[in-house]
Amino acid sequence: TNRLLYAAPEIGQIRNLTREHKYGGGEGNEKNKCIVSCNDTKGIIKLKLVNGDYFQRITITVPDEYPQEPIDIQFGSSSFPYQVSTLYYNQVREIARKLSLGISAENAVRSSNPANTDAVKPTEKKCEPAPIRLTSDYIRGLKHDVNFLKQAKELEQVNSSYSKILHKYDHSTEARRRARRELKKLTRQEAEAEREREEEEWKIIERQQLKDAAGDGNQNGPKRSIRVCVEFLMAEYVFKMSKVRCPTTGEIVFPKDPELLEKYYKTNSKKRPIRASCGCWYKHEELDKFLTEPPFGAACPNSDCIGVKVFHKDWPSDVKQLEKQWAMKKAREREISEIADFLGASAFAAD
Ligand SMILES: [Zn+2]
Repeated sequence: TNRLLYAAPEIGQIRNLTREHKYGGGEGNEKNKCIVSCNDTKGIIKLKLVNGDYFQRITITVPDEYPQEPIDIQFGSSSFPYQVSTLYYNQVREIARKLSLGISAENAVRSSNPANTDAVKPTEKKCEPAPIRLTSDYIRGLKHDVNFLKQAKELEQVNSSYSKILHKYDHSTEARRRARRELKKLTRQEAEAEREREEEEWKIIERQQLKDAAGDGNQNGPKRSIRVCVEFLMAEYVFKMSKVRCPTTGEIVFPKDPELLEKYYKTNSKKRPIRASCGCWYKHEELDKFLTEPPFGAACPNSDCIGVKVFHKDWPSDVKQLEKQWAMKKAREREISEIADFLGASAFAAD
C-alpha cells in the first residue's frame, strides 16, 4: 500500500520549491538544495536541506489518517550546532501541531515565533473530523440521481419505442399516456427534492460561513502541514542562515564554515550567534551591548522584524535593574578616570 497517497500533492510541491526564485532559482541561492526521498510503504519522507557547507536532515512520518492526524517531524544529522537546530526543531513541531488543530498556516507560523508565543493563544480543543456525513449524503444523492434517470429512461421508452416493421408504437395508447403522466409526476417530484437538497446544502454552507466569521479558525478541520513545515525550514532556517545580518551592525552573523560556528559555541565566543525574543539573530556581543546600554527596553532595529521589545532569558529584563547596572558601570568608569587624573596621565601611559 502507498501510505503517502494523501501526501503526494505536497511532496510534488516540495520538489518544486527549490525551483522558485527565492529558494533555489534566484541569485545568491545557487547553493540551496532540497533532496527528497520517499518510502511509500512506511509512509516516510526524508529530506536533506543544503545551503553551502550547511545541511540538515529531516524525517517526516505521515500517519495513515493524515491530515486528520498530525505528522511527526524528527531532525537527523546536521552541520548546525544543536544551539541553533533545537530552536527550529521545537518551532517546526509546534507549527505541525497547530496545523493539526486546525489553526491556519499563517497563524501557526506567526505564533511559533518566540516573540509571539504568548501573544496568540491557540484554542487547544481538538476539532471535529471532516464532515463525513456530507460525503455519504453526496453518494446517496448520486445513487438517487442514477435511479431517477433510469426510471425516466424506462418511462420514456414506454412512450416512444416504435416498431418500423409493424409501423406502430410498441405500447398501447393507454400505456403510453400512463407512462407520460408518470414521467411528468416523477420530474416534478425530482425538481422538488432537488430544491430541498439545495436548500439544505445552503443551510450547511451558511452555518459554516457564520462559524468562520466567528473566527477561531478551527472549524475547517485539521490543516495539511507537510509543505508548510518544509517551506518554513527552508525559508526561516537552512536557506536563510547564510544571509542573516546582525540587526545592530548589519554584519553577517553565521560564518560560512560550520566548524567555526561549532567552535564559537564551544568556546562561548562573543561572536556566537544568539537568538533574541523577537526571533532575530544577533552576535552575542552585540545583543549584550543592545540589552545593557541605553536606551533600555528598545524595539528590535531589524527592518524585517516585527519590531517588539527585545529581551533574552540570559539578561535581566527589568529596565530599572538595567538602568542601575548602567549607572554603576558609568560611576566606576568615572572613578577610574578621576584616579587617572589624580595620578597624572604619565602613570597610566607607562602600561
Ligand atoms: Zn528582531
